[in-house]
Amino acid sequence: MTDTTDSNSGKRERISVPEEIELPRLLDFYDLQTEDQTQIHEFYDNLQEGQLTTTQCCDCEEIHFPPRIVCPECTGDNLEYVELPHEGELFAFSEVRGGLPLGLSEHDVPYVVAAVDLGPIKLSARIDDASYGDLEIGDPVELKIVEIDGPADHKRFFYRFVPQR
Ligand SMILES: [Zn+2]
Repeated sequence: MTDTTDSNSGKRERISVPEEIELPRLLDFYDLQTEDQTQIHEFYDNLQEGQLTTTQCCDCEEIHFPPRIVCPECTGDNLEYVELPHEGELFAFSEVRGGLPLGLSEHDVPYVVAAVDLGPIKLSARIDDASYGDLEIGDPVELKIVEIDGPADHKRFFYRFVPQR
């Protein structure tokens, strides 16, 4: 809608914005996970089956995370999926209080994000079931698999960690 009037202060125009803005696909930070959509779909298939895995290079034995389709160490593409431990320890952690990605709302904060040391690799992950003040570096944590609700047309899965009780 456009409403143009002349007034003493010059031209003015009223514009409108949509009532709702659809979540832009590019700002959904979870990958699309099917074979047609990603070459690391096996990682997500394994996650759905309850296994945390990643790629290891068959030529130089480098273990990568996240999974790769080409080895960053030797540029070979002869990779295989290997299982990762489901338990590790907090290497570092922080608390997210604001500046949320699209799709999250104010009731999602605060939450904890951490670098988790699994032995073969370190990865970053959200830590559920704990607040910042509950945690210390070196605390043991274990894998938790989450199923992501919408907006993709297939079930999606991701990994988080929780403190070991
Ligand atoms: Zn390699």
